[in-house]
Parts: sequence; structure tokens; C-alpha cells
Amino acid sequence: MAEKALKAGATTFQYFSRNPRGGSVKSLNIKDIENFLKIKKDNFSQIVAHSPYVLNLCSKTESIRNYSKNMLAEDLARTDLIPGVLYNLHPGSHTGQGKDLGIEQISKALNEVLKQEQKTVVLLETMAGKGSEIGGNFSELRKIIDNVELKSKIGVCFDTCHVFDSGYDIVNDLDGVFEKFDNTIGIGMLKAVHLNDSKNLCASKKDRHEKIGKGNIGMETFSKIVNNPYLRNLPFILETPQESTEGWKEEIAVLRKISENGTKN
Ligand code: FE
Ligand code: FE
Ligand code: ZN
Repeated sequence: MAEKALKAGATTFQYFSRNPRGGSVKSLNIKDIENFLKIKKDNFSQIVAHSPYVLNLCSKTESIRNYSKNMLAEDLARTDLIPGVLYNLHPGSHTGQGKDLGIEQISKALNEVLKQEQKTVVLLETMAGKGSEIGGNFSELRKIIDNVELKSKIGVCFDTCHVFDSGYDIVNDLDGVFEKFDNTIGIGMLKAVHLNDSKNLCASKKDRHEKIGKGNIGMETFSKIVNNPYLRNLPFILETPQESTEGWKEEIAVLRKISENGTKN
């Protein structure tokens, strides 16, 4: 993963903390970690771990909630071995229980898992709001954060495709959307950005990523995003559908070109 990111000319990258669909995990290999720490020191300041898709802290099924909570605790024990890791988490899907209960369960689980001595910061990802997903609007994320006790261990990851699909018009009113984000969550909570174009229209609630500049968000908006002074120093992660590392390499090169100060990727 780190080698691939280097090949693509990236200065950050995201990896899945475990099998994204099944949730299984390889046993820890200290040698791997030591090797990676060497590469990381020279090349990457911050990297992002992504939670597996099966993790759902607010499922209506109690055993899934508990399984998810244990998985999260285990993942965070691992990310804590690497300095400068952000852990990106899909808040969850309430699977019919309703948003209020879902939000309550997410905050409760986070309070049980987060530890004062933990170094990893957990990021709640802005979601597209498909199905019963929580986090499809800024105020839901605010409510979760409000109920989390260890606020220094929590932040937000802004996914451009999700925010757009959930109904925030970043194409016609990017400043207005950031203002809303700031008023609702606080811009200081923003710790990472997922740069994805969208195959669908604003408010479609679909969550289908597209290559940068090839979807309904478009290059002009991405240019504004990578040049936004609030975002410039955050890790930008591409989650675009590419056939090979070459595709991301090209995207990174284009994004660097349009960013005034040379942005990270
Ligand atoms: Fe995600
Ligand atoms: Fe994302
Ligand atoms: Zn997505």
C-alpha cells in the first residue's frame, strides 16, 4: 500500500483496517510495522485508516452492534502503533430503528471505546444518506459529537461525493456549504477530505464515486476545494474508481497542478 502510494506520487494514503466486506484481519506482524514506520517517516506525515463496511455501531441487531464495537476497539489498538493515523469511520446505518436512537447508540459506543491515552483520532465520515445511513447531514454528525465525552479524539472527514449526493450543493455554493459546516460542526473538527467526483446529481443520495472532473461535481469545484485555505493542510484522499495506480498518479498530478501551493495527496 505504502509502495503503491509512493509510486503514484502521493504524500498520504488511505488503507482498510481489515477486510472491508468480511471484517477479518491479519495477525499483527511487528516487522511489517517497523518497515512501514521507516517508509512513513520519510514520506507520509498523516495517513488514514478506513473502517470496514460491515462495521455498524447502530444496527438494530444487538450482536452486530457489539461485534462492531469490538472491531473498532481492536482497530484502534492497532492504529495506535503508528503515529499520525486518522481512523475514518462510517457512523452507521440505523436499519429501521430511527435516527435518534441510531445517533444515541453511536455516541454510546464511541464513549465505551475511546480512551484518554489513545493517540488515534476517529473521524466521522460525511455520508450520502442512502438507505438508513446516519451522517447524511451535518447536524447528525454534530449530535454524535455533542454526546462524545473525549472530544479531542474525534473529528470529521469531508467526502465531496457524499456531501454532494446528500444534498449540499458544493458546485454552486461551496462557500455556503463550508459556512454551514462551520456553523453546525465547526471547521476545526475537519481533519481529512475524501476527493471524489459523483456519478449522480446533488441530493441523489446514491454514493457512486466518479473520477475527478468526470462527474457532476467537476474540475472547477475541485480546484476551489484544493485551494481552500481551510483545507490546504489536510490530507486529501482519492477514492475514485481507477483501474490501476497509474490513474491515481494522473489525478494527483492534475490536482497538484491546479493547486496554487502544491497540495498533498
Ligand atoms: Fe468511506
Ligand atoms: Fe469516502
Ligand atoms: Zn462513498
